[in-house]
Amino acid sequence: MSAPLEHGSRDARVDVVVVGAGFAGLSAAERLTGQGRSVLVVEARDRVGGRSFSGEVAGVKVDLGATWVSRRHTAIRDLAHRMGCTTTYQFAQGRNVLWLAGRRRTYSGTIPKVSPATLVDMARMQAALNKLVATVDVSAPWETPGAGRLDAVSFGEWLDRKNALPGTRALMTIVSKVQWGCTPGDVSLLHVLRYIRAAGGLDHMLDVEDGANEYRFVETTQEIAERLAEHLGDRVRLATPVRRITQDGNGVTVHTDSGEIHAGYAIVTAAPAHRATIAFEPALPERAEGLTRTWRMGVLSKAFVAYDKPFWRADGCSGEAVTDTGTVFITFDVSPAPAGPGVLMTFCDPRVFDGFGPETRRDLVVRQLVDLYGPQASTPIDYLDHRWGAEPFAPGGPHPVAGPHATVSYARALTEPHGRIHWAGTETAGEWAGTMNGAVLTGQRTAEAVAALLSRDVREGAPR
Ligand SMILES: Cc1cc2nc3c(=O)[nH]c(=O)nc-3n(C[C@H](O)[C@H](O)[C@H](O)COP(=O)(O)OP(=O)(O)OC[C@H]3O[C@@H](n4cnc5c(N)ncnc54)[C@H](O)[C@@H]3O)c2cc1C
Repeated sequence: MSAPLEHGSRDARVDVVVVGAGFAGLSAAERLTGQGRSVLVVEARDRVGGRSFSGEVAGVKVDLGATWVSRRHTAIRDLAHRMGCTTTYQFAQGRNVLWLAGRRRTYSGTIPKVSPATLVDMARMQAALNKLVATVDVSAPWETPGAGRLDAVSFGEWLDRKNALPGTRALMTIVSKVQWGCTPGDVSLLHVLRYIRAAGGLDHMLDVEDGANEYRFVETTQEIAERLAEHLGDRVRLATPVRRITQDGNGVTVHTDSGEIHAGYAIVTAAPAHRATIAFEPALPERAEGLTRTWRMGVLSKAFVAYDKPFWRADGCSGEAVTDTGTVFITFDVSPAPAGPGVLMTFCDPRVFDGFGPETRRDLVVRQLVDLYGPQASTPIDYLDHRWGAEPFAPGGPHPVAGPHATVSYARALTEPHGRIHWAGTETAGEWAGTMNGAVLTGQRTAEAVAALLSRDVREGAPR
């Protein structure tokens, strides 16, 4: 039986209150609503989508946050399909650009054209990584054989111990910056291995064709979330940060600046570090506190530069570039059509980007695009950037940076319920952790678990 939603007042009584209107929170609410449960989703930001956020450059809608899905990301693709959103292939025809140690080269495929010694070394390091990745338990990484040893070193220390050549190290640093929003020295090897395994392996994680970057959405990923929120209607409450959650044997109370929401259970989808924006009474157990303190968010920034046409295509370039120098470290072509406008999406290193004002940021990016794609890149028609580290609420992304020891010590707390508070969100996923697909799956899974508890409470005649 579902408790009625009390309209008119900012106080409310529902079966389940969901904290966060990203893909995990909205998917949990959709599943619970479909089962006849009353739900309220409470989101601190004035928008839905969380780490999915749209912007517009030269009249083209672009993804400032999450962008790509693979053919294996069936949960988010199914959701997008139901919401009437459509996929398009990530453009990847032509040669990619590699700018390494001050030298520009072009290559085809995923593996950049580096020196033969570096190619051999990269194959050696990839084989070593793959061997370790195969041993990882994604749902319970602390159970991985040798977990303590793997979690005691950073990815960077491991590269040192393996005597990775400078070229290999430069490319692994680029992977680390785009995947975890940090350099290899900051992140634990076990955390890296878990995310690679959860992403379907290193090749799947990095590839366009048949990989995680194969498709993007014409309407943008936030549009999927917006359409789902529309279906949920007044069950989604924006600009309402949750300050405190109290609970007793009968239920939870979620405290916001504008009222209290009483529910049987709460599903919190905030990323681990952002769980700390909420005061819990009773307090979180030690391990859960440790998780919020040590799984800090990485930081990543994106800039979009628009031109009349995707001029690089005429030069035989795909618009995909990898570089170890300066602000921009990866570029992709996200132009809507060959006729234009041409749009380059660039990933920027926050350390040489976020602290500058808008004009300097734009200059830094455009100058680097001139190095990569030639003088035509110097005359953009529009520019837009987004610094995830500068978000006023829930800053950071794409993912947490769990440093050495943080996984073995605290990762159990990712999913361990705290009384009537259950956790969802992409970090709590086993397979597909770190992706929108993982976020959707955790929302649905946690909703099922909480719905079963609500049914049990009714069977056992628990007071409400
Ligand atoms: C730059 C960037 C690029 C990415 N690229 C990709 C990609 O190409 N493909 C892919 O699959 N994934 C990508 N990701 C990751 C993807 O965005 C996430 O995996 C996914 O969106 C997470 O969804 P979620 O619902 O778990 O969490 P979130 O989207 O973070 O949602 C959690 C929500 O909780 C809210 N919240 C937190 N605390 C409170 C509180 N106290 N009160 C109320 N609300 C609160 C937050 O405001 C947020 O809206 C990228 C992320 C970034 C930042």
